[in-house]
Amino acid sequence: MKFNPEKLSIPDRRMEPFIDPAEIWSILENTRADKVRVRELIAKSLSKERLTMAETATLLNAEGDLVEEIKAGARELKKKVYGNRIVLFAPLYIGNKCTNNCQYCGFRVTNKEARRKTLTDEEISGEVEALEDNGQKRLILVYGEHPEYGPEYIAHTVRLVYGIKKERGEIRRVNINAAPLDIDGFRTVGRAGIGTYQIFQETYHPEAYSWYHLGGKKKDYNWRLTALDRAQEAGIDDVGIGALFGLYDWRYEVMGLVRHTNHLEACYNVGPHTISFPRIKDASALNIDPKYYVNDDNFKKLIAILRLAVPYTGLILTARESPDVRHEAMAFGVSQIDGGTKLELGGYSASKNAEQNLNREQFKINDERSLADVIDELIDNDYIPSFCTACYRLGRTGEHFMEFSVPGFIKRYCTPNAILTLSEYIVDYASPELAEKGWKAIEKNMADLDEGMKQSIRKKIERIRNGERDLYY
Ligand code: SAM
Ligand code: SF4
Repeated sequence: MKFNPEKLSIPDRRMEPFIDPAEIWSILENTRADKVRVRELIAKSLSKERLTMAETATLLNAEGDLVEEIKAGARELKKKVYGNRIVLFAPLYIGNKCTNNCQYCGFRVTNKEARRKTLTDEEISGEVEALEDNGQKRLILVYGEHPEYGPEYIAHTVRLVYGIKKERGEIRRVNINAAPLDIDGFRTVGRAGIGTYQIFQETYHPEAYSWYHLGGKKKDYNWRLTALDRAQEAGIDDVGIGALFGLYDWRYEVMGLVRHTNHLEACYNVGPHTISFPRIKDASALNIDPKYYVNDDNFKKLIAILRLAVPYTGLILTARESPDVRHEAMAFGVSQIDGGTKLELGGYSASKNAEQNLNREQFKINDERSLADVIDELIDNDYIPSFCTACYRLGRTGEHFMEFSVPGFIKRYCTPNAILTLSEYIVDYASPELAEKGWKAIEKNMADLDEGMKQSIRKKIERIRNGERDLYY
């Protein structure tokens, strides 16, 4: 059911800017963290209740041992809500032409070093085949903001990607990270069958926003802030938000993300599907004063606080971060990571020895491991890698689906689907060593499931071994 302001006799706030910097600062400055209150808030979150802005600010103000308690709480919540699965995906950069002038990005219009390129349909096919050869099932397509990358073009590339099936490979979910569109534009892209439409606000502070966004359409803070409202109006109920950490005070940005979540929930009855929290990384012609850069300790703290503040929202951590940071941060509540990532346009199908070329990349990544290596490490650390796309394809999205509101959801769907997609990966792509490890991990994860489910999964695994694909609950 869509939000109906008349029926509820509350003001219609859709499409309206909803960030008030003075309010956010006042909440941050007027809350204090003490042991009793922090513990109450961790308990509230563990009962899977959202935290308010003031409650989030209380956690942001915590120091010392209390931060350790927050991290322990986040670890426990992650286990409760998400189990031990980690969903894997890969980004695919379609084109780096851009009319904007974002001071942190290698694609910005004034960067004369950047070698501009838009993949041809043939090149996109080559990239997708290479990604399928590695075992990928979920992609996020990324575009600069440019008249060439309008809604029709984005929709065209999405359909193209879904249509490319090499041997047993196929892409089952295509997410998007692209410029904000108008409502009709979002409709056009939505009709191509996208998963999540992701747009990062970069910074929720309007003045700071104006320091970094010096040209092009992206200069308009409010157009970007209300983008996902337009997506919702166009029927895209699966949206991802994010802030680029390092542009402004990190505690303020966490509050901005929570405020954005509140806005979407209040207006559309559904919060964001995912939250991203990239930190600024080196890029060609990077022009940023490092004074707001976030160190590793604060980065882990903010991930743990986001986990507690929005218990049901997926948290994405990308290969911008090193394997070590990813390993640590994952425990506090990350639910999705990328693996085998290449940001250079055409990088997946290019020769394996090709050097990273900053002039064709948006920024530099810090985790260059292959998908197989990432999977190997996940299994070593007792995670179960998942390529599951079941919910989205069965329509379990938006307000109809909030994971934690369905008791037993993980055991009934998520773990079994992680096991089935990992089985497919093992049969089709894994080396004998990784396969052995993988089957052991599958056995271990089956141990917690009830007898009926175990039997049902075993039958499906047998069907996978016999050549069937895409089995899910
Ligand atoms: N052009 C579209 C836009 O700006 O929304 C979509 C793609 S942009 C290529 C994806 C995201 O990458 C940006 O929203 C920004 O948060 C992030 N990004 C840009 N430069 C970065 C850098 N130097 N380090 C880390 N992330 C960066
Ligand atoms: Fe263009 Fe996006 Fe890079 Fe800004 S962040 S310069 S809009 S690609």
